[in-house]
Amino acid sequence: MTKASSLYRGRFAPSPSGPLHFGSLVAALGSLLEARSQGGEWLLRMEDVDAPRCSQAAADSILHTLESFGFAWDGEMVWQSRRQAAYAEALEQLTQAGRIFPCACTRRELADSLLAADGAVLYPGTCRNGLPAGRPVRAWRVRVDATRIAFDDAVQGSLTCDLSRQVGDFIVRRADGLFAYQLAVVVDDAAAGITHVVRGADLLASTPRQIFLQRCLGLPTPVHAHLPVAVDAAGEKLSKQTQAQPLDPARPGPALWAALQFLGQAPPPQLRAASRDELWAWALDHWQLARVPRQPATPMTNQLLVRSEPAGDRLE
Ligand code: GLU
Repeated sequence: MTKASSLYRGRFAPSPSGPLHFGSLVAALGSLLEARSQGGEWLLRMEDVDAPRCSQAAADSILHTLESFGFAWDGEMVWQSRRQAAYAEALEQLTQAGRIFPCACTRRELADSLLAADGAVLYPGTCRNGLPAGRPVRAWRVRVDATRIAFDDAVQGSLTCDLSRQVGDFIVRRADGLFAYQLAVVVDDAAAGITHVVRGADLLASTPRQIFLQRCLGLPTPVHAHLPVAVDAAGEKLSKQTQAQPLDPARPGPALWAALQFLGQAPPPQLRAASRDELWAWALDHWQLARVPRQPATPMTNQLLVRSEPAGDRLE
């Protein structure tokens, strides 16, 4: 793995499981503007590690939309589907360190287990000390310590999570043989020399797992900034599952204006009808991370992560 160095290197990492929607635009825009305002680089990674949920058509559509919206990334885009060897190497390193155990449990067997704060199963530890006799291996889990993971998020404040009580031993290689998102992200961010992760707060619940893996693998932990999550009228996070409308590549201006507004940047109303390039010029001149509102965070992240400081003067 080569590690590049830069004072600031950010990234946008869409999953090509559907077209970009307003929520993805917020993450792309926030991460790019923060990188540029720090004189940093901004990389693009296509997160197609979960191959059954991804398609080339969605990846093409994402690239076309990003280009039509005027996003320009540094260097070559990375495809996760081509990075299996790096993930295997990281899994091997964790195995050597005694961190990994095979798990035979089926989803059905775990169905009665307690739920973790994010709604996933809190692993009851069935296979932690060895596979039950005669049972085949399905997935591979990482053994988590009873340590608290604390981190300072540049938007959400100081947060802590008790990984063993709130998340439990989690999967790094799935029953279908695919590497889990948590492992892939950590390996890729380190390989690319990412110093700052700016993304949606829907991923905040994953951050303690990623920090834990970084520590186990001896990798640096980037600075985090989790942006508020765009929700629909019913209060659901915009996503393919909630049928979020795809961005229209032919009309970038109004969506860019709305994303800047959503991110607390207060773009002048007269720019609503401005061209894409005028909006970019304004955004690059005026971006301030400090204006990004802290909320709405999802109820799930509120449960999982405990704030270790009173809310400051940010919007709640
Ligand atoms: N691929 C993830 C998503 O689209 C983002 C991962 C990340 O930014 O760490 O939700």
